[in-house]
Amino acid sequence: MVSRVIPVDPFDLVIFGGTGDLARRKILPGLYRRYWAGQVPDGVRIIGAARTEQDSDAWRVFVRAAIIEFVAEAKHDPDVIDAFLKQLHYIPVDARGDGGWKDLAGMMREGVTQAFYFSVGPGLFGDLAERLHRFKVACEDCRIVVEKPFGRDLASAKTLNATLAQHFDEQQIYRIDHYLGKETVQNLMAVRFANVLFEPLWNAQYVDHVQITVAEEVGVGGRGGYYDKSGAMRDMVQNHLMQLLCLTAMEPPSRFEPDAVRDEKLKVIRALEPLPPEDIVRGQYSAGDEPSYLEDVEDPDSRTESFIAMKLHVANWRWNRTPFYLRTGKRLNARNSEIVVHFKQPPHSIFDADAGSKANVLSIRLQPDEGMDLRVTIKEPGPGGMRLVDVPLDMSFAEALGPEAADVPDAYERLIMDVIRGNQTLFMRGDEVEAAWAWTDPIIDAWTERGDRPLPYAPGSAGPEDALILLHKDGRRWREITP
Ligand code: NAD
Repeated sequence: MVSRVIPVDPFDLVIFGGTGDLARRKILPGLYRRYWAGQVPDGVRIIGAARTEQDSDAWRVFVRAAIIEFVAEAKHDPDVIDAFLKQLHYIPVDARGDGGWKDLAGMMREGVTQAFYFSVGPGLFGDLAERLHRFKVACEDCRIVVEKPFGRDLASAKTLNATLAQHFDEQQIYRIDHYLGKETVQNLMAVRFANVLFEPLWNAQYVDHVQITVAEEVGVGGRGGYYDKSGAMRDMVQNHLMQLLCLTAMEPPSRFEPDAVRDEKLKVIRALEPLPPEDIVRGQYSAGDEPSYLEDVEDPDSRTESFIAMKLHVANWRWNRTPFYLRTGKRLNARNSEIVVHFKQPPHSIFDADAGSKANVLSIRLQPDEGMDLRVTIKEPGPGGMRLVDVPLDMSFAEALGPEAADVPDAYERLIMDVIRGNQTLFMRGDEVEAAWAWTDPIIDAWTERGDRPLPYAPGSAGPEDALILLHKDGRRWREITP
């Protein structure tokens, strides 16, 4: 299979926060990989802008080290790295001061796509937007890329949207949720809307329930200070899990275009029923010999959840009474993210009860290895009569499409290229983010009012016992979290 890499036109990309962790681990290695693939042409300029006083050569040393650390060794060709680094420049800029801005304005070229990546803390988004405007750095149709978290509740998200709207149109704002840049997440849309096999079954009549899991093995580690003010609901559910739910549950958009797709996602969020407290389980890792959550954060009495499981209903015709079970947590037994669609049993079985019939299951894996797997029931081979067994129809990209398909772009590099191409389909619109907070806020407020404490769970487990009971009550079971 020959991969199709379509080069983009020359562009100027400014990375505010170009010396930060995200730039080092994701943005810069991702840009290098696109350069290696031939997608980033000569004539592109990547400009680091951050508070550190240093020159371009010093930043290039930083970027080279990032490439060596985070890009596969097969792509460490010194000549290619040197050529890439020649396209990099650095300007010290203070988001809250006036220094550096005129120099930055002087560097920007007219007539090429201009993009500004806000890879700094969210408290600086407004300052950057205002100064880009005041110092006439950006052209009229420039694009800005905004990192998460986008607000911490509805009020702050609205304020942030309003601040950005003072200087930019919605068509210029790219709110990143890197889950949307994952190959399999886009494949979910292809599987649903480019085949006739699945869509007729994709409803309450044939789907028993859906499970969405984002499980992490790591704890909050060095991010304890940030995480403790946020928790699993704000950090994972309001954005990533909500987006996965939307793509799974949405109606077919009329076209694969930004607003058509985002209109349908928004309808899903707006159709979510309010959650009764008994349908949510909050947890905090705490038992066992290993460090507990409370040792990883500063507040010894923190009530922030590091785990959440919930049962949601999308109140519309398609999903009438079909539960969507969502769970996410830190320090679980494995790193695994997947969307699993459990279909119903056939309405009537013609086989003996002990033949062993199983319902069909379609799983869409995001992590650790991306791929899809459909389990179908067949006859067990051999002379033992009609015994049924479920086998996988595995759609691992690497095996099906050849080795090049295994080299799929990382979510960040794909999304950055979408920014340059001006395609907002995989970015969140302002009203989507607000709708997600409008649904999340009352739940968080109720915990705070009641002073709820999360339930303890052992590090390395699948979360609190009550999360298992949430499904047992409905006669169902979570899929095992496997590495
Ligand atoms: P970081 O603390 O490592 O880096 C922050 C960057 O901002 C540095 O380059 C710093 O020089 C710059 N900066 C700080 N104050 C500045 C100022 N006044 N003027 C100009 N530059 C200033 O942070 P990070 O981890 O790279 O995160 C950046 C953004 O990305 C945050 O919004 C974060 O929430 C988000 N994010 C990060 C990750 C991650 O894995 N690191 C993941 C998802 C989202």
